[in-house]
Amino acid sequence: MPRKITQSVQVGPVTVGGAAPIVVQSMTNTDTEDAIRTVAQIADLARAGSELVRITVNTEAAANAVPEIRDRLLKMDLDVPLVGDFHFNGHKLLSAVPDCATALAKYRINPGNVGRGAKRDEQFAQMIEIAARHDKPVRIGANWGSLDQELLARLLDENASRTHPKPLEQINREAVIKSALDSAARAEELGLSRNKIILSCKMSRVQDLVQVYESLASQCDYALHLGLTEAGMGSKGIVASTAALAILLQQGIGDTIRISLTPEPGGDRTKEVVVGQEILQTMGLRSFTPMVTACPGCGRTSSTYFQELASRIQTYLRDSMPGWKADHPGVADMSVAVMGCVVNGPGESKHANIGISLPGTGERPIAPVYIDGEKAMTLKGDHIAEEFQQIVDEYVQTHYRAESA
Ligand code: SF4
Repeated sequence: MPRKITQSVQVGPVTVGGAAPIVVQSMTNTDTEDAIRTVAQIADLARAGSELVRITVNTEAAANAVPEIRDRLLKMDLDVPLVGDFHFNGHKLLSAVPDCATALAKYRINPGNVGRGAKRDEQFAQMIEIAARHDKPVRIGANWGSLDQELLARLLDENASRTHPKPLEQINREAVIKSALDSAARAEELGLSRNKIILSCKMSRVQDLVQVYESLASQCDYALHLGLTEAGMGSKGIVASTAALAILLQQGIGDTIRISLTPEPGGDRTKEVVVGQEILQTMGLRSFTPMVTACPGCGRTSSTYFQELASRIQTYLRDSMPGWKADHPGVADMSVAVMGCVVNGPGESKHANIGISLPGTGERPIAPVYIDGEKAMTLKGDHIAEEFQQIVDEYVQTHYRAESA
């Protein structure tokens, strides 16, 4: 799949852009002043596969907590780069707490929230100078919900004086892009090199996001961070994010992604990481964990057993991945099929590395297992799930071995 060539930006140990794999990132929702809870959530996100984690830095106490958060993570062997999210007072916090400026791997600057009036340019320049001094990259993240109002007013005035004014929505889209590009140009004038700048222009509607990023990508070669802002909860948030990002990724646009899901009350923040990985993996852009192909089930499935088995195997594969990663290279590309009956079961099973076809209604209570396209054995009885899991594990041990193993 063609990929648009962008600048290669180093964010701590992680490369964003250039020829680097598309990076999955996420953001905490803990109070950063509470270092213990923030570390716990960052650890969860990193272990789920988040390659960068953004944290809110909104007060001096939060800025002071950042070095402690970083140290605690390193002690846990988690070298995940931290991105500081700043609004309005970032220049003050980064100046007042140099250890925070050092501990962060990247600063996120929202050009619409950097300051008002004459202070805007001055405060933006201060943040860029601090980034240059500490040799840190920045993300210039324009957002439709916090658009630079002075810029928007100017573009609206210009539009009003046209013989044929453009629709308001088009002006909004142009304003977001201009805000990001003008700020990036200013950052370069101030001495930040092009390979220290990542851009984003987040919108909350799918069609707006697609148009904005297509236009942005055609106008620059900055590394691009993709994400639908305020995507929402549950399936709506997942579907809207996937729809928007898939269109852009298919065109080779996007170097890092974040899925902005609103968690259900008490819900798991790592869901946004899993969704981001699944978008990339199902599109064939990256592999993170072996995937399970399962049929939806129908009137031929006599019980929920096959759903339970599909879920159990998917969970087992995902949970095993951190341990397998180092010792079993290539295992993320493995495919497993769990099918509900013999109608499509054997066919789908033959296409997977390992597949099982459970007995449907009225079928003999046996479950044929296929390995690399060949029928290898038949399982029956009360322990089909345990035995199948063991077969999967043996396949991993024998087919994906590190050179030195
Ligand atoms: S494979 Fe069998 S159980 Fe699954 S959806 Fe198709 S017919 Fe139904």
